[in-house]
Amino acid sequence: MTAPDAVLVQLWAQHIAQTDAPIRQALTALGQHHSAQLADAFYRAMLADPQAGALLTHDDVNTRLHSSMQRWITQTLGSWDTAQVPALVALQRHIGQVHARINVGMELVVRGARQLKHDIVQTLLRTDMDTAQVLRTAMAAHELIDLALEAMTIQYKESRDLATRTDEAYRSLASSVNMSLERERQRTALLDWQSQFLQKVMMMHPDDEVTRLGQSSFGLWVQHKANAFNGSSDERESILSAMRRIDADLLPRCEDELTGQTDELGRQTARHVLTEVQQIRYFTDSMFEHLVDMESGRDALTQLLNRRYLPAVLGRELELSRRSGHPFSLMLVDVDHFKHINDHYGHSCGDRALQHLAALLSNTARSGDFVFRFGGEEFIIVSVEMPALQALHEAEKIRKAVENDPVLLPEGRQLHMTVSIGVATYDGHPDYQHLIEQADQALYAAKSEGRNRVVPSQRPQPT
Ligand code: GH3
Ligand code: MG
Ligand code: MG
Repeated sequence: MTAPDAVLVQLWAQHIAQTDAPIRQALTALGQHHSAQLADAFYRAMLADPQAGALLTHDDVNTRLHSSMQRWITQTLGSWDTAQVPALVALQRHIGQVHARINVGMELVVRGARQLKHDIVQTLLRTDMDTAQVLRTAMAAHELIDLALEAMTIQYKESRDLATRTDEAYRSLASSVNMSLERERQRTALLDWQSQFLQKVMMMHPDDEVTRLGQSSFGLWVQHKANAFNGSSDERESILSAMRRIDADLLPRCEDELTGQTDELGRQTARHVLTEVQQIRYFTDSMFEHLVDMESGRDALTQLLNRRYLPAVLGRELELSRRSGHPFSLMLVDVDHFKHINDHYGHSCGDRALQHLAALLSNTARSGDFVFRFGGEEFIIVSVEMPALQALHEAEKIRKAVENDPVLLPEGRQLHMTVSIGVATYDGHPDYQHLIEQADQALYAAKSEGRNRVVPSQRPQPT
């Protein structure tokens, strides 16, 4: 038995021990006689939600889920033998696993459970119990339901985590695909489809049907594999909708027109198809360009980490700090008046300045630190095992280095640049977003106090 299970089994057994015989009997009877009505209450609340409504139809509920929900109610309210508890916890885990698999979020289950609790109280009020007994019985029922929800949640989370890890592993498998080879293969596949289409158009007779683009090698790849590389992207969405326009509208029209002796119209529609294919080719190229950046985890301009991995890195550092007690710090670095630099020197010199700064930050950071390009002219350094005072010191070194190390531009010109830095140190808050916000507020203060300075999110105590 896992540690969380052991805790739950113990809590559940305690609850049984603290519940006296009349309440046990009342709940057992409730589970036996009202399970159908209570299951209704549960699904009524759940299906009212549009998201759940899309996942589960009323038919699903009627034919498959209702009877297992009834069994669950009877079992959960009617098991008072301590020896049954491990099996009860295992049952809740099983339910949590199914929910994770079919994507029924815990919030929906909790909502259903809330309605269930409400209806239990209503049902108890209609019996001849006195109010005090109703109260004690309802409390005992609520506690059982909550114990069950806790067990489900533990499993739900574990299952989702596992699914995420598997998904990530699959993505990294996808990222090991040679992208330029894959790009060539897909370009060729699209061209193949296009030449088949043109041949068919030229020799169209009534039995001829052009292979739908969605059914072609290229189309299948976009629909089934391209999203493994980076989930959904704007480019992929554009490709899919162009494909739908071709398959659902243009091709059937083109076939009708060409076989129906309206050749001129048919040729026009065919040209329209070619224009759409050209768009698809453009979006495919640009999708591959982005894939290369994202998959490498690097920002193309600066070669720093892109922000994709920031949550993973911060989440892990938070956990390490919490366990080891060594705080880590986050520096948010923002170029001062960068818009002016762009305006004055031109965008490509602006790019050059960003590369210069990125190199400086990489060289200053220790090899265990993480340097991210956070956005346009903003960078984040995650300084591992670094307390606040030391982080301020390091940030100040960076600030001076930038000030004293001008960017060299073509024709011997020099660009002087300064940065403002907000520094925040892990303070035990469990959400990494809090740390970023703290650094952001400090950066804001640095900007409003005149720029080219380092500001801590909190004044550190001298040690
Ligand atoms: P402040 O001192 O308050 O930070 O002023 P700022 O001008 O640096 O800040 P602001 O955020 O207003 O402007 C940032 C500019 O950075 C705007 C955007 O055009 C430019 N920028 C963003 N990404 C890039 C890039 O990759 N290359 C270049 N050259 N410019 C970029
Ligand atoms: Mg900025
Ligand atoms: Mg700026």
